[in-house]
Amino acid sequence: MVSKSNAGQWARAGVLIGSSRFALTMSQSIVLFGPPGAGKGTQARAIVEATGKPQISTGDMLRAATAAGTPMGLAAKVYMEAGELVPDEVIIGLIEERLRQSDATDGVLFDGFPRTIPQAEALSEIATVGLVIAIEVPDRAIVERIVGRRMDPETGDIYHVTFNPAPPEVADRLIQRKDDNEETVLSRLAAYHSQTAPLAEWYRARDLYTPINGDQNIAAVGAEVAAAVETLR
Ligand code: AMP
Repeated sequence: MVSKSNAGQWARAGVLIGSSRFALTMSQSIVLFGPPGAGKGTQARAIVEATGKPQISTGDMLRAATAAGTPMGLAAKVYMEAGELVPDEVIIGLIEERLRQSDATDGVLFDGFPRTIPQAEALSEIATVGLVIAIEVPDRAIVERIVGRRMDPETGDIYHVTFNPAPPEVADRLIQRKDDNEETVLSRLAAYHSQTAPLAEWYRARDLYTPINGDQNIAAVGAEVAAAVETLR
């Protein structure tokens, strides 16, 4: 286990902690929910195109901070490489800061957030979630999906060596995420089941949970996701 978080350390790293909460975004936002490797990033692109809502991926934000070498990014990297969740106060601070940007006023698409009940509770105080699209994929499919996942660093497009191969002209520049290996994925799945999966019930109780069968091809998942997005209009 990575050692417990330390508010002072994160605060020195410039993370906003315990700031006063108020609704930062008025229109309805969408939460894209599901285990690692469910295809959230792939489906997010189509949702952004259909709704015009910006995608807020906490994983992408953390990877950008890590690549930039910020103190927060370097602290988060330890958790990410261990396949553990980054502490709630860091994530909530990141989201609060991001929702203050002008493009977030008409609602956003959250991808990979919230991942714990405290994150969902904090979110409910600063934004209105109108729909939770839950891409459900059984554990048996996850490891193969994650280990074969590749990314085009120039476009952000996501591929899979078997299920969604990249065109030959981009094949040479594809990269693999450092945490997309068999060992880390087991920790990520364990974190999902113990800390994130309980959120399904939390959102079901609020009548927001919309399950999608993620154990089918990308286009078929996309069609179900598009139908779910339509219900928000
Ligand atoms: P992702 O790109 O969504 O798979 O996230 C990659 C890693 O970033 C996760 O395994 C966590 O270590 C961290 N992370 C991303 N989003 C969150 C979140 N909402 N809460 C806690 N940790 C997160």
